[in-house]
Amino acid sequence: MVHEWALAEAIAEYIEQQAKGRPVKKLVISLGVLQSIDREILDFALKNILDERNVRIGSIEYVDEEVVLRCKRCGYEWKPSMNEVDESIREAIHFVPEAVYSYFKCPRCGSRDFEIESGRGISIKEMVFDEHPK
Ligand SMILES: [Zn+2]
Repeated sequence: MVHEWALAEAIAEYIEQQAKGRPVKKLVISLGVLQSIDREILDFALKNILDERNVRIGSIEYVDEEVVLRCKRCGYEWKPSMNEVDESIREAIHFVPEAVYSYFKCPRCGSRDFEIESGRGISIKEMVFDEHPK
């Protein structure tokens, strides 16, 4: 998928800038649960692009960024349990994150006017460089 490759390109660009020629020992990438990212493709793409750019990479770890919603009416913040929703709904949300608005509502006031605080972003949580490469 084009999406993963474009994303991998952007991540690789950033890593290369930060690495400044040093090998990267460890990388931890957090992926929002609402993002429709295929980890295997992203992993494959990222390793390929880094290789092309001569950036040596040790391990890449992927972690889930949980979904946090915040009600715009009462300010309540909550983490919807994605495991409790139907597979088909999870699928829909996976492709169209905005679909969360049709399936969730504020547990305190019942409003559907909420924001997605986290769970749709991608970020590099940790980057460890090998300062003394052999
Ligand atoms: Zn509310």
